Amino acid sequence: MPVKNRFAELHGDITAWRRDLHQHPEILFETHRTSALVAEKLQAFGCDEVVTGIGRTGVVGVIKGRGTGSGKVIGLRADMDALPIEEQTGVEYASKTPGAMHACGHDGHTAMLLGAAQYLAETRNFDGTVVVIFQPAEEGGGGGKEMCQDGMMERFGIQEVYGMHNWPGQPVGSFSIRSGAFFAATDQYEITIHGKGGHAAKPHQTVDPVVIAAQLVQAIQSISSRNADPDDPIVVSVTSIESSSKAFNVIPARVTLKGTMRTMSKENRALGEERIKALAPLTAEAFGGTAEVRWIAGYPSMVNSEEQTEFAADVAEAISGGCERNAPITMGGEDFAYMLEERPGAYILVGNGDSADVHNPGYNFNDEAIPAGCSWWAEIVERRMPVIN
Ligand SMILES: [Zn+2]
Ligand SMILES: [Zn+2]
Repeated sequence: MPVKNRFAELHGDITAWRRDLHQHPEILFETHRTSALVAEKLQAFGCDEVVTGIGRTGVVGVIKGRGTGSGKVIGLRADMDALPIEEQTGVEYASKTPGAMHACGHDGHTAMLLGAAQYLAETRNFDGTVVVIFQPAEEGGGGGKEMCQDGMMERFGIQEVYGMHNWPGQPVGSFSIRSGAFFAATDQYEITIHGKGGHAAKPHQTVDPVVIAAQLVQAIQSISSRNADPDDPIVVSVTSIESSSKAFNVIPARVTLKGTMRTMSKENRALGEERIKALAPLTAEAFGGTAEVRWIAGYPSMVNSEEQTEFAADVAEAISGGCERNAPITMGGEDFAYMLEERPGAYILVGNGDSADVHNPGYNFNDEAIPAGCSWWAEIVERRMPVIN
């Protein structure tokens, strides 16, 4: 079964929606225009229920099948938010909002799920209920978490959830997936090192926090090289070093380090936090200073369920003739992780072709991926909840 014919017919419409969304990017929870547009379309498609305001600006649509005797309820999720990036694609439908752009393709995800919703509401060729989920604030705001905290899973009786992201560098319309941990947990930390400032020509009268910071940056690298199981990836990056001195000849009293930690397993996540919280004060103490760590927990790692991943891959294979089932892990984060913590499900990547990478000002979603993406959504529903004659 290749892509569904109906999506060849709808391709123009869905592309137009996508480009309209692209022109009007909205960041984090500020997806007011996008959410209103999504809700309006879901109503027009004849969804049985459309609910706004879940997870602040999230939107949920309910579509009942020809029958609902199976008692099954499947959630399909797309993200709607853009990024604070100045667009440099040069396309005629480029962002009209200065400093904001759809640089991660969430315009494409939203349009594809709308297309699938239209088809599913038209055909109802399934036995059960589909819940289409449009979430704000994937890019760092935890919109998925807020939708879960609003009780979405219980309220709509969702039993399993599926998500999709476009993937630059993968042939357009092709699919890849992996079972288990797929995207990383993304934690952040800020370390403040206190010393004793003074004249740069009289270091013996100071406690130099710059020297402590330099030792600490090196020491932190020992977490991945000496503490973590080599089979289980962990990345700890120090991304910012700020001194309280701006002068060439003044030793500062304080240095602040910032960074991010990426882990796939709960074990490494706990280990990394514990090590950073030990290394910072003990290294500072060794050189006569003090240090404190502010830990900012981010998204958990996103873990695909085994059974749903196999099923999702079978569907993808039927649509595009193949599916890479051993996709490489990514150390990027994805807040669909929160939905997968609450319900079994799977997250798949659909190829965006030879485009700039996501989060790049030259990136653009590839509209040629639309028929494959929409077909995957629709086929997930029709296969998982077949009509019983
Ligand atoms: Zn992104
Ligand atoms: Zn994204």
